[in-house]
Amino acid sequence: MFFIDPDTCTACDSCIDACPCDAISVVDGHHVIDPELCVECGACYDACEYGSIFEADMSELESIPKKDI
Ligand code: SF4
Ligand code: SF4
Repeated sequence: MFFIDPDTCTACDSCIDACPCDAISVVDGHHVIDPELCVECGACYDACEYGSIFEADMSELESIPKKDI
């Protein structure tokens, strides 16, 4: 499962252009990956020059401390 870090994403749209499944869209100003459409090909990961896309499974995510917003 791939995710986009909104803190480092520059909204350059390279990942949207690279995704063969149209799985990435902009929601409330943030680029997000739709897990229903994503086939985990990694093209967005390769396309992102800012290291904003990372791969993790849900159990790993739960261990990442949530930031205060
Ligand atoms: S891993 Fe592939 S299918 Fe999933 S969002 Fe990235 S480019 Fe699209
Ligand atoms: S390629 Fe990276 S920096 Fe550009 S919009 Fe996608 S996640 Fe954000």
